[in-house]
Amino acid sequence: MSPTKYEKLRWQEAETVRNLLKKQNSLLGDSLENLDHLIYLQKSINLLSLEEICRVLVEKLPFILSVKYFTFFLFDKNRHRLNLASHNHPDINETYSLYQNESPIMREATTSGRYIFEQDFSASRYFRGRKNPLFSSKFFVTIPLMIENEIIGVLNLNDNEKGVFNVGDLDFALNVSEFVALSISNAMLYERVKKLSITDGLTGLDNHQQMQILLKNEVVRCRRYNSPLSVIMMDIDHFKGVNDTHGHQKGDEILLEFSAIIKKVCRTNDVAARYGGEEFFLVLPGTPIAGALHIAERIREEMASRMFQSKGKEFKVTVSCGTAEFDPTRMEGSENLIKVADLALYKAKHEGRNRTIQGSTDDLLDT
Ligand code: GH3
Ligand code: MG
Ligand code: MG
Repeated sequence: MSPTKYEKLRWQEAETVRNLLKKQNSLLGDSLENLDHLIYLQKSINLLSLEEICRVLVEKLPFILSVKYFTFFLFDKNRHRLNLASHNHPDINETYSLYQNESPIMREATTSGRYIFEQDFSASRYFRGRKNPLFSSKFFVTIPLMIENEIIGVLNLNDNEKGVFNVGDLDFALNVSEFVALSISNAMLYERVKKLSITDGLTGLDNHQQMQILLKNEVVRCRRYNSPLSVIMMDIDHFKGVNDTHGHQKGDEILLEFSAIIKKVCRTNDVAARYGGEEFFLVLPGTPIAGALHIAERIREEMASRMFQSKGKEFKVTVSCGTAEFDPTRMEGSENLIKVADLALYKAKHEGRNRTIQGSTDDLLDT
């Protein structure tokens, strides 16, 4: 081989190696950049509330995954519904929700637990209806978010500047979706525990502790804005006898029925709580005593008109109620308000039950 030919070959060889190294470097660079994004996103969404995670997804996900649009649905497996939790589409209603069966692609992803990647969505078997004029590229990715084989949500990705979504992009999106799922699952668990700690297990009403906190807040508000505030304390009559005659389970059913009546009467800002065993409490912000009396009577009458059944026999159950209004000049705090309602309830029991008695601040003087 002539020296020039040899030189040329060596040069070609070196060029090939250089190109290979360049490619490897660029891939490494991409991986490092992806890793950077991954760590950045993980830091941003770890330990956040669900609401905050959804907000951060809108801010960062399209950039990190290099997609133009995304939708993230939470999956309610009991109702078979997909509820939109976060997205960056300009034309989707914030409270959008659909049945699992209504979207062929999400139905398949949530039943199989596998991602679906279509390079041309409109040519796929999932396509229905008309093309979305919003999208300039054709791909569509649907990733089920799973925690221990349980589907908790679905992430849909579409459109980007490049016009394609390649295997590397998909791989990265799958990695990202894994820890998005983890953060969301943690946030949901935390919210469930938080809710459990303030809720009565049987009736789903607020528990005693939560009611005390909310009532204190309402008293502060009432003083600050000089707005009326009333409460109703309710107690089921002869409930021990009901349990003894019809059994504890029937007793629980009655407690549930009664709490449903209370919930029905409640407005959004009212606080309905199980005060203890068969005692219930209603906090009515912005309501003077006349209104409280009216509401108490509605609840009492509704309960008194209900017919319960046990072992083929029908029976009725009644409640007694005591109402009280906060008196900023003569009451110190929420304890006084509860006390007046309790004294009125005691009177209602004493005077024959199945009635509502209006409490007065003067009652405090007699105790
Ligand atoms: P009064 O008209 O004076 O209120 O009489 P009462 O029998 O309702 O009052 P008492 O305080 O003597 O009895 C309350 C009963 O409520 C006793 C208790 O077994 C029952 N109870 C408390 N919590 C529950 C519960 O979660 N489920 C059931 N089934 N019963 C309960
Ligand atoms: Mg009772
Ligand atoms: Mg009682």
